[in-house]
Amino acid sequence: MLNDNVAYKTKSALNQDGEQTSRLMLVLRTPPCEYNQCTMCGFDNNAGKNIRLQNIQRQYQNGIVGEDFSDIRRIDFPTAGSFYNDRELSPESRNYLFSEVSQLPVDSVMVETRVDYLTEEKIRESKSYLREDQNIELAIGLESADDNIRNKVLRKGLSKKGFERFADICANTDSSLLAYILIKSPTLSEAGAVEDAVQTADYVYKIANERGIKARVAFKPMFIPENTELEKLYLSGEYQLPKLWTTVEIVKRTTELAGYQPNSIFVGMFDEGLSGDRFSSNCGNCNSEVVEALKRFNGNQDLSELERLSCECKTEWGQEVRGESK
Ligand SMILES: [Zn+2]
Repeated sequence: MLNDNVAYKTKSALNQDGEQTSRLMLVLRTPPCEYNQCTMCGFDNNAGKNIRLQNIQRQYQNGIVGEDFSDIRRIDFPTAGSFYNDRELSPESRNYLFSEVSQLPVDSVMVETRVDYLTEEKIRESKSYLREDQNIELAIGLESADDNIRNKVLRKGLSKKGFERFADICANTDSSLLAYILIKSPTLSEAGAVEDAVQTADYVYKIANERGIKARVAFKPMFIPENTELEKLYLSGEYQLPKLWTTVEIVKRTTELAGYQPNSIFVGMFDEGLSGDRFSSNCGNCNSEVVEALKRFNGNQDLSELERLSCECKTEWGQEVRGESK
């Protein structure tokens, strides 16, 4: 049962500035996303109705109580929508969270928001509650650099100009940028999904490098949340989830990009507790091995283990990607 005083909590490996560390993620229960048009988003399922400052305080306290912070260097606060939309999360709630984080031995805090609600003033206010040595990472769901995929297929309502304005705000407030990139939007084949994600990472690094800001990309292999348009496509057989090999290939190719920023790749969504048939997978023989290798990659950023992975199903995947089957 959903409880307005409990945030969904998970801890995972993370590489920060070349160091293997961990991040603690508290998915705050907030009111539903005001935009709420994205075809693949199921965050609404986690939203609450009458969330007040008091609930946010309890969610935070319940989330960190008893937690050992000795190896945690970052805390993440995703919400059901946008962290900087005042109608979803009040300025008092935000300030409370930053003020609490200033007491933690972490060096950065990640929050997610649509660009429409973001201003430099809001970031400056947030930073005034943090310690000098703490940094804000601003995350945005870019999903794809392809305008048609992003705005027609996924209905993100985000222009490239909007994304670039987001990057400008990061630059002007000395914040770092995290761009979520979706793997295998509807309409894409496995091969198309590789191209789309790698080109999107290339665009993110280009925009970040032009502005001299630190950027990371978080790849999200598609999964199927309940009560979404995507779920309908999935249940009717029109949509197939990507193979994990596609993600492995995207990670490898992203490290080869000219503008690639070292230690900047994260592969997400392995910790949402979703059942296997609704999540990207390979065959039963290699599935858990590949998932575990990707999780370790998040911590060590070492490609060699991913390169050593093999399975019969990888050969089939390779044939499909190269167009030799079907
Ligand atoms: Zn396999």
